[in-house]
Amino acid sequence: MIRVRFAPSPTGMFHVGGARSALFNWALAEQADGRFVLRIEDTDAARNRPEWTEGIISALAWIGISEKSPIFEGPYFQSSYAEQHREAVAKLAADGRAYYCTCTREDVKARTGSEHQGYDGFCRDRGLTEGAVRFRTPDEGVTVVEDLVRGTVEFPNNAMEDFVIARGDGSPLFVLANVVDDVEMRISHVVRAEEHLSNTPKQQLLWEALGLTPPVWAHVPVIVNEKRQKLSKRRDKVALESYRDEGYLPEAMVNYLMLLGWGTGEDREIMPWSEMVPRFRLEDVNPSSAFFDEKKLRAFNGEYIRALPLEEFVARSEPWLEPGWDRETYARVAELVQTRIAVLSEIRDNVDFLFLDEPVFDQASWDKAMKTSAAEILTGYLARLETVATDPNSLKTALEEVGAEHGLKLGKAQAPVRVAITGRTVGLPLFESIEVLGRERSAARIRAALARLEA
Ligand code: GLU
Repeated sequence: MIRVRFAPSPTGMFHVGGARSALFNWALAEQADGRFVLRIEDTDAARNRPEWTEGIISALAWIGISEKSPIFEGPYFQSSYAEQHREAVAKLAADGRAYYCTCTREDVKARTGSEHQGYDGFCRDRGLTEGAVRFRTPDEGVTVVEDLVRGTVEFPNNAMEDFVIARGDGSPLFVLANVVDDVEMRISHVVRAEEHLSNTPKQQLLWEALGLTPPVWAHVPVIVNEKRQKLSKRRDKVALESYRDEGYLPEAMVNYLMLLGWGTGEDREIMPWSEMVPRFRLEDVNPSSAFFDEKKLRAFNGEYIRALPLEEFVARSEPWLEPGWDRETYARVAELVQTRIAVLSEIRDNVDFLFLDEPVFDQASWDKAMKTSAAEILTGYLARLETVATDPNSLKTALEEVGAEHGLKLGKAQAPVRVAITGRTVGLPLFESIEVLGRERSAARIRAALARLEA
């Protein structure tokens, strides 16, 4: 059975790169009816915070990786496997595959004359029974890693020092704990970030030294920003949660993340999860770095929003509407909103004018629209508003007529009216907005704008 795992070290936020790795693993588990194991690598005490684990679980759930699914296993905690880590270290030492070492960094430096050189093997054959534990790496030959994404990667053994697998206090290092956990959890495929490729020859040697067959390896490409720099949490927007909180739809996010390094194999990129799963192959993942293009993600999200059935769009809008806003009024403009936004957080600026006593005036819009003849246009339209029928067509004809009286085309004549009604120069179509707002309230806003203009 295919058993994959996602093994984050909690940091308090969920990196989009982690989300991409998790999705690749999830796709493999789903297509083979295998298992997806969530393992929290919490051995570093600072990472041992229950709320961080909850954050990981809820971020995973948001992208469709649900604890409730029958293929989901865990969460398991690395810290609960301390006994197994110790046993593995003891076994490797007993078998002569590892040895105790009491050298300090200064000792090594004094002997080799360099800070940067690897360990010199001083304790290899001293037969010590305490201290840190180092793995005895082969002196010659190469360790060959077969990676499904990167092909055959060779690591010369003489470039690999006898690396530490346990500290003097017995606590294991990442390379060891990570392998022992994968052994315990019967992991068949290790699919993870490229940054771990350098650990892989060491880990493969550990698997072999423990008398086991290593898993299938696949290292997925680094994600970079538009300057081709690796995404970093200090510089780039990397938290999955921030996209969620901005109103990205999870299905758009999932679709976009899957394309970071992988392609659908067809000329359409927009594809639902259920269709991507059977097509996904690690062998088709491109090893070169993947560009996280936020503009493209936005465009994807806009497409996903527009593809929602209207009722569904209205339901998804709910968290973005203020409690006091009238839902029937919103439902009347929802379709217009749906075609105009790329992320759900943009709903607010499009519709708030319908629910507030006065529109929120955007100063730049005001300055742009309230130029010469703005007052005449507003006055003229105010007069028409008393009698005109309030369907969009009649409302439009009336404004065309007012504009013509002042030598202005509709586009120009609309600007002051739009700002008076909505507070902004861009937004929902003006005449539909007036229709929904109603004659009285629209007239009151035009009067208020006139007063403001005079003041
Ligand atoms: N805990 C490691 C990390 O967060 C993952 C290691 C692995 O996937 O093997 O980078």
